[in-house]
Amino acid sequence: MSQTFNKVAVIGAGTMGAGIAGQVANAGVDVWLLDLPSDGDDVNAVAQRGLDRLRDPNAPGLMSKDAEARIHVGNIRDDFEQLKDCDWIAEAVVERLDIKQDLYRRIAALTGDDVIVTSNTSTIPIKLLTEGMPQAFCERFAITHFFNPVRFMRLLELVRGEHTRDDIMATLDTFCEERLGKGVVACEDTPGFLGNRVGVFAIQCALHEAFQLGLTPAEADAIFGRPMGIPKTGVFGLYDLIGIDLMADVAKSLETILPAHDDFHQYAQPLPLMTAMIANGQTGNKGGKGFYRDGDKGREVLDFSSNSYQPLERLQLPLALQAEADGIAVLLQDDSVYGQFAWRVLSSTLNYAAHLLPEVGNDLVPVDDAMKLGYNWIYGPFELMDQIGPDYIIDRMRKEGREPAPFLLQAAGKTFYAIDSGKLASLRYQNGHADIQRTAGVVRFSELRQTLAPMNSNAKASWWVHDNAAIVEFHSKANALDGDSMIILRDAIEQAKNLGLRGVIVHNDSQHFSCGVNLVAFREFFEAGDWQGMDDFLNHFQQTVLAMRNCELPIIAAPVGMSIGGGFEVVLHADKVICHANSVMGLVESGVGVVPGGGGCKETLYRWLEAMGGDMEKAAWKAFMNLGYGRTATSPIEARRQAMLKDSDEYLMNRDRILATALQQLGKVSKAPAREPLAMLGKPAFDAMVAWLAESKAKGMFTDQDCVVGTEMARIVTGGDVAPGTLMSEQDLFDAERDSFLRLAKTAATQERIVSMLDLGAPVRN
Ligand code: NAD
Repeated sequence: MSQTFNKVAVIGAGTMGAGIAGQVANAGVDVWLLDLPSDGDDVNAVAQRGLDRLRDPNAPGLMSKDAEARIHVGNIRDDFEQLKDCDWIAEAVVERLDIKQDLYRRIAALTGDDVIVTSNTSTIPIKLLTEGMPQAFCERFAITHFFNPVRFMRLLELVRGEHTRDDIMATLDTFCEERLGKGVVACEDTPGFLGNRVGVFAIQCALHEAFQLGLTPAEADAIFGRPMGIPKTGVFGLYDLIGIDLMADVAKSLETILPAHDDFHQYAQPLPLMTAMIANGQTGNKGGKGFYRDGDKGREVLDFSSNSYQPLERLQLPLALQAEADGIAVLLQDDSVYGQFAWRVLSSTLNYAAHLLPEVGNDLVPVDDAMKLGYNWIYGPFELMDQIGPDYIIDRMRKEGREPAPFLLQAAGKTFYAIDSGKLASLRYQNGHADIQRTAGVVRFSELRQTLAPMNSNAKASWWVHDNAAIVEFHSKANALDGDSMIILRDAIEQAKNLGLRGVIVHNDSQHFSCGVNLVAFREFFEAGDWQGMDDFLNHFQQTVLAMRNCELPIIAAPVGMSIGGGFEVVLHADKVICHANSVMGLVESGVGVVPGGGGCKETLYRWLEAMGGDMEKAAWKAFMNLGYGRTATSPIEARRQAMLKDSDEYLMNRDRILATALQQLGKVSKAPAREPLAMLGKPAFDAMVAWLAESKAKGMFTDQDCVVGTEMARIVTGGDVAPGTLMSEQDLFDAERDSFLRLAKTAATQERIVSMLDLGAPVRN
């Protein structure tokens, strides 16, 4: 069998099938996307609609136009023959056993023994799927259970059947892990596999407990959300996102397949209110209203007592904020209704996860992985139990007359994870701790870090030594950068040389590399009128990123998720970038009324000049536009097109491989050359850009403050009022950035943008 896939087919072009086809195309493989034939003019209309959905700018399923060109739409009547020479056929049609089996019979009759066939089923056991199928078909059949949206959700549950061949499993594992970038979790053929088994329990439990305790959706989501390391959609927001009707179906199907003794049954029922909501079309985001909706004047929330939508107040529960800062235990020690809610949901969910062993295997790591990669929890259930303390949970449950799961009891007096001989180990069912084994080339810094001691650390960042390299990790909220983050980065750069290290890697294993400089710091400066303090802050940031350039050792930035604003300015000053394929990058400062003040304008200009082959006229306009519009690139391919990344920069489909790759490449990275002074376009170009801003404003494209900000961008990239050809050094450009930044920060309109961003979560358009 071929170890690489050249041609793949996906059958069913709905939510999941289209997503799978998109990710296969992103991986550089040709894919046929087939659905039912249509009666209308376009026989492939259904598959075409699936492809169209991948172009949604809010969740782009495709990384590039090239990827889109690799998808061929078709239908199962006219194009079935295409399956014959496919390496892999992924079935993702509706969750109906008869329809799936009918397809398998046709596929079995057409394709040879080396064609892999998988199903994306969420609930149908593999035994049932393959019932009555020839042995040779069962040998090449498995379940590949992706999560929605496929490009962005990291989890892939891989389930083998009784007869599935080893080589089929190995090939799928490798392709899905390396090429599709998934965290592959091998699962037993048990109901709901791992992610949905725990995830659906957790949300059904949170929903029922919130109702019993009389919490509003906003209150429940404020607790069952960020304070627990769970996405801020919480429970009611997640219901709206998935679809209240779909969730009811999922819960129902789990209810039918789980054995009678399973704890899920106490939470499986839909609430009467929800049945009425579904009948009333309140199905969540897709229906325009659910527990929340967007009203004319902003976000609204359903008031259960009056069954009407009321304005959603920004809820800042002190308990939730404290738990976010100090840890989950804070929630459980609180005896208010919020604390009770947290305890009930956590104790039931975590105990449920513990109950799954040994049914789903003897190792807890796949359960934690499934929740982290499939539900975006920051911590898995067993990691959460370690934070709380297994003994605390056991004692409190017993005081309430509840019996903890045997595996939870096994952790009494210890923790589920432990460091054993310098390695991270996990507790095995009815056994001791054993080392956690990851696939070769997969290194998660969040795990590695636990086996290391930091060389220097503060609340915002730390740096560590591993494999004779310095690793700098930002770890503030959203990894917002401030002076403390820069102190650690600078220290690592300076010390790495003294310690004889190979180089420096700036990396973290959070959702986002960095969402920019902490705006709170700027607000404090302007509210105190401390302009010197603001200038010093910017200067320190600039000199730190300059130190990245000037240090003799190679520096690699290895970002995942978002690197925007100041976070991207750090990335821009590395010698090489090795990033994840879903990285989002850009300088978005214009939105909050300032210019990038940490070398972002400077680097944008230099990079466009290189991309434009030295044509300063083109480069300055490109830089002006990118900075002015605050453009972001939603993939590294797009970032390259926008001169944000260089050709020598790299991306990997699997974020878990970035650190190991960066460590391996460190020795091969050459230092970026020093920046030579630039001959600026000067006053004529500056005037032309200002005139363009005025014209665009007259056409209604820009606000007053957009033009004020745009004028400062123009001033930096042209040199402003200087004569054409005036030379500006790298430091001159840094100075120009700081001047413009301060000029803007002193305007009321920019201050208003920053305050509204901080207080309301979005800048005003003024
Ligand atoms: P969907 O309803 O969005 O799409 C199903 C598609 O299958 C439709 O386009 C339909 O026209 C097509 N179809 C039906 N019969 C067909 C046939 N005989 N041949 C070809 N196409 C046919 O469903 P979905 O949400 O994409 O789910 C697909 C599968 O993935 C199901 O097994 C589901 O359980 C599973 N799944 C769904 C999710 C999710 O979040 N939606 C997540 C994981 C797994």
